[in-house]
Amino acid sequence: GDEIKADMIDSLAPAHFPLCMRIMHESLRKDRHIKHYGRLNYGVFLKVLGLSIEEALVFWRKSFSKFTDDEFTKRYKYNIRHSFGLEGKRQNYPAKSCQQLLTTDTPEYGCPYRHFSPENLQTALLSSYASQGLTVADLPEIMHHVKEQHYHVACTRVFEITHAKQGVQKGAGIGDGEHVTHPNEYAKRSMELSR
Ligand code: SF4
Repeated sequence: GDEIKADMIDSLAPAHFPLCMRIMHESLRKDRHIKHYGRLNYGVFLKVLGLSIEEALVFWRKSFSKFTDDEFTKRYKYNIRHSFGLEGKRQNYPAKSCQQLLTTDTPEYGCPYRHFSPENLQTALLSSYASQGLTVADLPEIMHHVKEQHYHVACTRVFEITHAKQGVQKGAGIGDGEHVTHPNEYAKRSMELSR
């Protein structure tokens, strides 16, 4: 894909990211830190979105502003390079799919449609997506899908509602009626629609 710069992420997240990745971004900004699995899941998502290793190091260094350069280098630089396949076994890790995020054993960094309480999910939906046209009136339908445990259908419906201005209709999904199965597909399609 196209290259993403570290300083673009604050504007990309609220415009184009699915709820799972918005929440990671917000908690990173709020706490100026995020634990290992959060860094891993969010880091590989950003990598596949087009963040180079150089830009990733800039992004994480700035995000972890409570650490000194020395602490950052010692504690985090290796792991970030590792996730790009530049250290250790040199495995270039793929970004996690919805299925992996739905069944993760670190649910705080998984799929919020599945892992949040209904109250917290509705609060997160409104605070994340109200600026893109999602209203309280949309919640019963979304929560119905959640209750049926069709989490990716709920996420797809949110995509449709929040891209109605770009001409996305109910049932169109992320294109050709496809459901969301990967956070990177969600973000990529959203970015394409804004061009
Ligand atoms: Fe993220 Fe997939 Fe859950 Fe949507 S369905 S919030 S993309 S894990």
